[in-house]
Amino acid sequence: MYQLLDSSHVARNEEEIFDALYDSALAVLDSTPQLDTEQKTRALYFSHNLCTCEECQKECGAHINKKGQIRISKKFFHSTLNQKTPSPIGLLELMYTIFYQVLHGIFPELNEETIIEKTEQAWKSGMTELAKEKLNRNS
Ligand SMILES: [Zn+2]
Repeated sequence: MYQLLDSSHVARNEEEIFDALYDSALAVLDSTPQLDTEQKTRALYFSHNLCTCEECQKECGAHINKKGQIRISKKFFHSTLNQKTPSPIGLLELMYTIFYQVLHGIFPELNEETIIEKTEQAWKSGMTELAKEKLNRNS
């Protein structure tokens, strides 16, 4: 992820950036103490694509379909990537969106509100753990 946050992403195509962001989102997920091994393992098996369905062309940012495939709106992806705000913020926003959909896939039985709560907790703790790991490696 840390490599992603520099300007080198400009040289990559959108599919590659999407894959890298997806992997980074999974790395955060893997670091969170909020989920157990089985839940983390399940996350590894979701397929994921950039989506151009009708909803995604309009206002939908991302969704998960009945087969458990994670779809991120290509339009949303593209416009977030190319917005004028500093790119790390856009990349994090996209990562968070992916992360949220993965949580949806892991907990299909939960309602929206609970998923939002779980996503925030897992994201924060996963990020904290990743930062700790990085500090340990550098010291
Ligand atoms: Zn779609």
